[in-house]
Amino acid sequence: MASKNHRGKTLWKLPSRGRGTCPLCNRTRIKLLYEIVTEDGSMEKVCKECSKRKA
Ligand SMILES: [Zn+2]
Repeated sequence: MASKNHRGKTLWKLPSRGRGTCPLCNRTRIKLLYEIVTEDGSMEKVCKECSKRKA
């Protein structure tokens, strides 16, 4: 069950339905499902690929 957190209707509750521009790869209108802490300590929402790359 927990693995389905990012699926289905959960996304639609988010602002812009979980989509936006990834600050790292600058792709637009992709799903930003992951929050990372940047070097200055703020939270950024990034796409799946960038969350992997950062980690
Ligand atoms: Zn990205």
